[in-house]
Amino acid sequence: MKIRLFLLCLFASCFTLTSQETVDIDGRLQPLLNDFFRYCDTYGIEYHDKLFQLKNIDITNNLPVEEGNTVMGMVTRDKNGAIENILINWVALVDPEITKVVAFHEFAHHFLDYKHTCPDCDEIMAVNNSSYFNVVRDWDSQVKKLFITSPVYIAKQAKVSFVEPQDSEY
Ligand SMILES: [Zn+2]
Repeated sequence: MKIRLFLLCLFASCFTLTSQETVDIDGRLQPLLNDFFRYCDTYGIEYHDKLFQLKNIDITNNLPVEEGNTVMGMVTRDKNGAIENILINWVALVDPEITKVVAFHEFAHHFLDYKHTCPDCDEIMAVNNSSYFNVVRDWDSQVKKLFITSPVYIAKQAKVSFVEPQDSEY
């Protein structure tokens, strides 16, 4: 019994250690991440656990930049399918508005559980954006839509409406 308790403590301390691991965040992306987290706070979306699941949020030189084959950003996964790196192509830094759209797109894949919303349209979660500037011109409503139609927000709303009738009995 004592041994089992000890193992449990050991496991608990390991767990604490892993959850305190640091995430490497490129300084050029940090302000955008802070901005994204402010929206998470506004919409009541928890992000700490998901943040510490990551290893890197980084600018990379290793994504393709070719005519017809440019990848502006991507998430990479570990062998269990969990996202561990959020990578932004250096070419997205050419304009701060493009950086913002690409970063929010990749952040939303991880923190809001998004897949894509459309193959080619002016939305943050489009596979391709015909114009980043159309998205930026409409930024506030774009971000609102990004959050309130996200899988995480919808799941949260479903839980809230499930709990409400029980609360009203007290
Ligand atoms: Zn994507």
